[in-house]
Amino acid sequence: MTALLEDHTTFRLGGPCRELVAVRDPDDAVRVLERWTAAGRPWLPLGGGSNLLVADAGLPDHSILRMAASPRPPPVILEPALRGESPLPVWAGTSLDALSAAACAAGLAGLEDFSGIPGTIGGAACGNAGAFGRSLSDLVAAVDLWTPARGLHTLPASALGYAYRSSALQRPPLGPCAVLRVHLRLGPSAGDPAPLLARRAGILALRASRHPDIRAVGTAGSYFKNLPPPAPGGRRQPAGALLDAIGAKTFRVGGAFVFPRHANILVTDPATATAADVHALADLLADAVQDRFGIRLVPEVRAWPA
Ligand SMILES: Cc1cc2nc3c(=O)[nH]c(=O)nc-3n(C[C@H](O)[C@H](O)[C@H](O)COP(=O)(O)OP(=O)(O)OC[C@H]3O[C@@H](n4cnc5c(N)ncnc54)[C@H](O)[C@@H]3O)c2cc1C
Repeated sequence: MTALLEDHTTFRLGGPCRELVAVRDPDDAVRVLERWTAAGRPWLPLGGGSNLLVADAGLPDHSILRMAASPRPPPVILEPALRGESPLPVWAGTSLDALSAAACAAGLAGLEDFSGIPGTIGGAACGNAGAFGRSLSDLVAAVDLWTPARGLHTLPASALGYAYRSSALQRPPLGPCAVLRVHLRLGPSAGDPAPLLARRAGILALRASRHPDIRAVGTAGSYFKNLPPPAPGGRRQPAGALLDAIGAKTFRVGGAFVFPRHANILVTDPATATAADVHALADLLADAVQDRFGIRLVPEVRAWPA
């Protein structure tokens, strides 16, 4: 059925697609993908839509496969890991934050630094999401993915070309593909939950003070990637520091503007903004940084169409 992608992205932007089908497990996903492939339909995978800027014209020829939450809630998903089985297979549509919350509560270490990151495990595995110096690739042992050429198969993390906020899953020849399960190394199992819960609470409080509330405005979090460290092994330079230096927080295009508490977060007024406004604002910011510092910022947010 035709759907509006603005209803499925945290920017709350994006025009129509040909159809959007929500699936809740890998078998369901494979059935739909085989049907579309046999019919020669172009398709794209969607998770929580929290790292996406979809054009106002949408993708009217595309079918969209949305990996939705599993009927098995995260505490149940964790049971094998609590018995010491590792790596743990996780359905791609599982909420990253819900899994992090359940793991912390169960005393299972690994996901606490990912507290509060919106979206799904599948989306995080594709974009190599992370925070506080950690990336999901630190925990990924393998993924089960479906491609038109090979159907459902498993690839180890070493074949996924992981780098800072990127992976080979995002580009040809592997992509576009559908990641259906992510095998995560969590543990030690059933340790003391108290330090994990404290770390999680601290991170959630920090995020609440620095990030916009996605219930009030449209956003996809940090828009640009941070810069490589000046020397090997050093810390990445925050893109926000360069953006602050050019006065980014005063920039606005139509209904798109820079979040007053974080120069690298673009936000939208859902009532008036268009995707074209966000693209124009991002271009203005990147041009101003390039003029001042000779550095071209690279978007972390994925654009549809690319
Ligand atoms: C308030 C806020 C804070 C954020 N903070 C952070 C942060 O701290 N760190 C960080 O890294 N990110 C952050 N983000 C960005 C975003 O939450 C992450 O990048 C997240 O991992 C995206 O997951 P998703 O399921 O929403 O992916 P989507 O936005 O649905 O998709 C993103 C891309 O991945 C592809 N994709 C999604 N699922 C699959 C799948 N199963 N198989 C194949 N391809 C797939 C899509 O085709 C698309 O190209 C933040 C976003 C917001 C709104």
